[in-house]
Amino acid sequence: MIVKRIESEWFQDYRLPSMLVAFPHCSFKCEKENEGCCCQNSALATAPNIDVSIDEIVKTYMKDHITSAIIMGGLEPFDSWDDLYSLIKALREHTNDLVIIYTGYYPNEVREYVSKLRELNNIVVKWGRFVPYQNKHWDNILGVKLASDNQYAERISE
Ligand code: SF4
Repeated sequence: MIVKRIESEWFQDYRLPSMLVAFPHCSFKCEKENEGCCCQNSALATAPNIDVSIDEIVKTYMKDHITSAIIMGGLEPFDSWDDLYSLIKALREHTNDLVIIYTGYYPNEVREYVSKLRELNNIVVKWGRFVPYQNKHWDNILGVKLASDNQYAERISE
């Protein structure tokens, strides 16, 4: 699958050390709705693509004993649905560690995907567009601050 970045130890999007997988596509919906301002991940759009197998990502995660969660992050994971779902399914053959999906969508925009994900264990989704010029607020589920008031995390499966 194609990704923009993999960090085997990542500390800024969840209260515990996590692995970050950065997905390669987005329709840039936040920018379109805010007169061209300001995608939080725009630097990734021009970063080189990395072609890596799902097996390799799973192995990278499993061999690191510091991390206890996997973050599927921006650009926009749901815009690479087949790869996102295949990767989470492959992880679930080895571990029930928390999977966190950072999306700019709202639940009603990806309802069918969410019902498929609810069949898998231990998944949290951070919902909502980035809206500029707001104060950061604390999210109790993630244990970090989110950038705009409309954004929130939700546990979609146990
Ligand atoms: S969803 Fe993420 S990557 Fe897409 S426009 Fe919004 S901030 Fe940028």
